[in-house]
Amino acid sequence: MPTALLWFRRDLRLGDHPALLAARDAAGPDGDVLPVFVFDDRLWGPSGDPRRRFLLDCLAALDGDLGGALVLRSGDPAQVLPALVREVGATSVHVSADAGPYGRRRDDAVEQALGDVPFVRTGSPYAVTPGRVTKSDGTPFRVYSPFARAWRKHGWRAPASSPGGTRWRTGVRSEAAPPAPALDGITLPPAGEAAARAAWEGFRDERLLGYADGRDVPGGDGTSRLSAYLKYGCIHPRTLLADLAAAEQTESVRRYADELAWRDFYADVLWHRPESAREYLNPELQGMGYDSGPDAEALVAAWQTGHTGFPIVDAGMRQLLGEAYVHNRVRMIVASFLVKDLHQEWTLGARYFMQHLVDGDLASNNHGWQWVAGTGTDASPYYRVFNPVTQGKKFDPDGAYVKRWVPELRDLDPRYVHEPWTAPGGIPAGYPEPVVDHAHERQVALDRYARVRGR
Ligand code: FAD
Repeated sequence: MPTALLWFRRDLRLGDHPALLAARDAAGPDGDVLPVFVFDDRLWGPSGDPRRRFLLDCLAALDGDLGGALVLRSGDPAQVLPALVREVGATSVHVSADAGPYGRRRDDAVEQALGDVPFVRTGSPYAVTPGRVTKSDGTPFRVYSPFARAWRKHGWRAPASSPGGTRWRTGVRSEAAPPAPALDGITLPPAGEAAARAAWEGFRDERLLGYADGRDVPGGDGTSRLSAYLKYGCIHPRTLLADLAAAEQTESVRRYADELAWRDFYADVLWHRPESAREYLNPELQGMGYDSGPDAEALVAAWQTGHTGFPIVDAGMRQLLGEAYVHNRVRMIVASFLVKDLHQEWTLGARYFMQHLVDGDLASNNHGWQWVAGTGTDASPYYRVFNPVTQGKKFDPDGAYVKRWVPELRDLDPRYVHEPWTAPGGIPAGYPEPVVDHAHERQVALDRYARVRGR
C-alpha cells in the first residue's frame, strides 16, 4: 500500500492545501498519507517564546484535526526525512514550497538526500509564488506599486478543493514536542485552522467594511489580526482573496487586498535577493554611522521596555511585550524612533522584533524595517523621519491606544496624552521624561543622511 509523506511547515491547515491534494493523489485510492512535522533547531532556536508557543499550539490543533495522526520528529530534516521515508516505505514527499533563504537551501538538501524518492513542491504560502511576477524584461520589481499592479494582473488560483478521501496513516512513532515555554502574562490569539477561519470570518463580516478608515487607528479594532495565522499557514491568502473577490468592490476591500500584496511583495524581494534578510537592500546608506557605548545602550533599553518618554513609542513597545504583536502604524513609528531618533541600525530592531513577535516573519519584518530605515524598497525620495508626537495625535487622537498600554498616563486629559510634558500638572508620576530631543535627533539623522549621500 503506497504511502505519501506530507511534510508540514508553514501550511498548518487541511483546507485549501494543494500539497495535501498532491500527496493524496500520489498515494492513490488504496494508499495513505503520513503527516509529519520536524522540529529543526535552525528555525526553533532563533524563534522567541511567543512564536514557539503559537507553533506548538497550532501543531496540537492540527493533530486534533488529523485524528492524532501527526508524527513529530526533531533534527536536521535532510537526515530525519530520508530516515522516516525508509521507516514507513514512503514513495514520495510533498511540501508547500518555501521561499525563504534558509528554507530553500534546506529543501534542496532534503531533495538531494532523498535520492530517487520524489520531493514534490506544490503551492506556496503566498497568493502568487515568489519569483513569478516580474517586469516585462524579466527583472524583479524593486518598488511596491508597480509590483502590486502586475501581481493583480497575474492573478492567483481559486482555493484548492477539500481533501476528502485522504486516508491518514496512523501508528507511526511520534516524538515528544519540545516543552511549551511559559509566556509570563502574554496573551496570544487562539491557535489553529478553525481559529484562523473564525478570525477571518469575524473580520470579513463585521469589520472589513470599515477597514480603509479603521486600519490606521491603533486604539481601535480595525485590522484583521490574521498575521500570525498567515505566517504559519493556518489560513491561506488565496482563501481571503476569493472572499474579497466575491464581496462588493469597495475601497476597504481593495485596501485589504493591497496589504496581502505587500506580504507577497516582500517575499518576492527576499526571494530575488536572499541576502537582504540581513544586508541592506540599498547599500547607499551602509555608512550612515550609528551610536554605540553605554549611553546608547541605555537608550536602546528604554526603547525595548517602553520607557522612552514618548507615549506612542512606549505604548507600541509595551504592546509588543504584552501581546507579542504591534499595530502596523505603530511598528513604523517605533522603528523610525529606534533608527532615526536613537541612531541604531535597523538590524538591531529587526532582531528584537523577531524575538518578540508572534507573527515574526523574515520577509515582512526585515523588509518592513528596511522600508522605515530607508535602506529597502521605499520609493520615497526624501529621508522620512516620523515625529512621534504628531503621529500620536493624528492616529490616536483620543489617546485610547496609549492609555491602554501606558497606565501612568491613563488619567491625563487626551489633549496632553501625546506630550505629557505640556500637561498643567507636569509629567504624571512614574512616567519618564523624553529620553531625547526629537527635533535635535531628527536633524542629526538628516545630517548623517546628507553626509552618506555626499550632499
Ligand atoms: P491587516 O491590516 O489586517 O492586514 C492583513 C494582512 O496583510 C496581515 O495579516 C499581513 O499578512 C499583511 N500585511 C499587512 N500590512 C503589511 C505590511 N506592511 N507588510 C507585509 N504584509 C502586510 N508583518 C508580519 O506578518 N510579520 C512581521 O514580522 C512584520 N514585521 C513588521 C515590521 C515592521 C517594522 C513593519 C513596519 C511592519 C511589519 N509587518 C509584519 C507588517 C504589518 O505590520 C503586519 O502584517 C500587520 O500589523 C499585522 O496585523 P493585521 O493582521 O491585523 O494586519
